[in-house]
Amino acid sequence: MIQNFALAELTNALRRQAPELRLEENALMAGYTTLRLGGPADLMAHPSTPEQLLLLLTEAKRLNVPVTLIGHGSNLLVRDGGIRGLVIRVCREMREIRVDGNVLRAQSGAMMSAVAMAAAEHSLGGLTFASGIPGTIGGGVYMNAGAYGGELCQVVKRVEGYEMDGTPFSYTGDEMNFSHRYSRLMDENKVVTYVTCQLHSAKREELLAEMVELNRRRADKQPLTLPSAGSTFKRPAGGYASAMVDQCGLKGLTIGGAQVSEKHAGFLVNRGGTAADFLALMAEVQRVVHERFGVILEPEVRILGEDSLVHRV
Ligand SMILES: Cc1cc2nc3c(=O)[nH]c(=O)nc-3n(C[C@H](O)[C@H](O)[C@H](O)COP(=O)(O)OP(=O)(O)OC[C@H]3O[C@@H](n4cnc5c(N)ncnc54)[C@H](O)[C@@H]3O)c2cc1C
Repeated sequence: MIQNFALAELTNALRRQAPELRLEENALMAGYTTLRLGGPADLMAHPSTPEQLLLLLTEAKRLNVPVTLIGHGSNLLVRDGGIRGLVIRVCREMREIRVDGNVLRAQSGAMMSAVAMAAAEHSLGGLTFASGIPGTIGGGVYMNAGAYGGELCQVVKRVEGYEMDGTPFSYTGDEMNFSHRYSRLMDENKVVTYVTCQLHSAKREELLAEMVELNRRRADKQPLTLPSAGSTFKRPAGGYASAMVDQCGLKGLTIGGAQVSEKHAGFLVNRGGTAADFLALMAEVQRVVHERFGVILEPEVRILGEDSLVHRV
């Protein structure tokens, strides 16, 4: 249990040292996740510079307040009881993108759609695949986001940021140990501030047309009008989670307000439920798929926070 005075002390210290830093007490996580689920975070900070981010890390460490890092919240399932301590949201406030020759350097809060668009505007190819992934480039490198045959590992040249105690780190793309939906950041507690990509010259119009086409294909297949966190489960060895879920006849399966999408079996969507509904549906899908195929589906969504003490009856 985090002592209230530690949080109050942290809030005061931050307000004193960085009056322009946006802080929110009891921020409902449902408002900061694309699944629209999750209870309150004790304190949420929205840094707009790497310096503010560093201050948040060092002050939270000094006062022993646990830190949870999020980006756009498009790969998160936050439990109904919310998150204790400090949530740092690195998103639209930290979104600068610079291009120099064939090299693009973005702050980690830049959305992948904006990064892909900036690259195309500079006639640089390599990022069209990312234009429809609704997350930040920081969240993207964390799990090596990818689509339509492209993955961030193909273009990422350097990743910079801080360890949780504020010590800077810098990894080359090779040092990130990328593999399918994995980077070493998933095993290390670090905050990304900048991502540098090595791109190649291409025709602006062709890049823009490719992005339009990929996003059309996405809209055709995915339930983009309903809250979701994208693919709920990782691709298991030798198969596709969505195909297995579909073959088990689970499309449309509903628990409370959580549903296996009728449009795409790999997506679980929120139709007005709770995180508890969503977790129960995930467990049921895992149970049925395991019974039929002997495969354990691993969640791709990151599950954060604590259960609510009050359960729906
Ligand atoms: C409709 C839909 C479609 C999707 N399609 C795809 C797809 O095609 N391909 C794909 O790969 N994903 C897809 N996703 C999932 C999601 O968009 C990606 O995983 C994205 O990379 C998550 O970025 P985020 O900023 O939202 O991160 P969050 O969801 O906020 O966080 C995810 C993880 O990244 C960490 N993280 C976030 N920012 C940082 C940072 N600055 N430094 C260190 N760690 C950080 C967090 O701690 C957390 O563990 C989809 C999601 C939705 C809702």
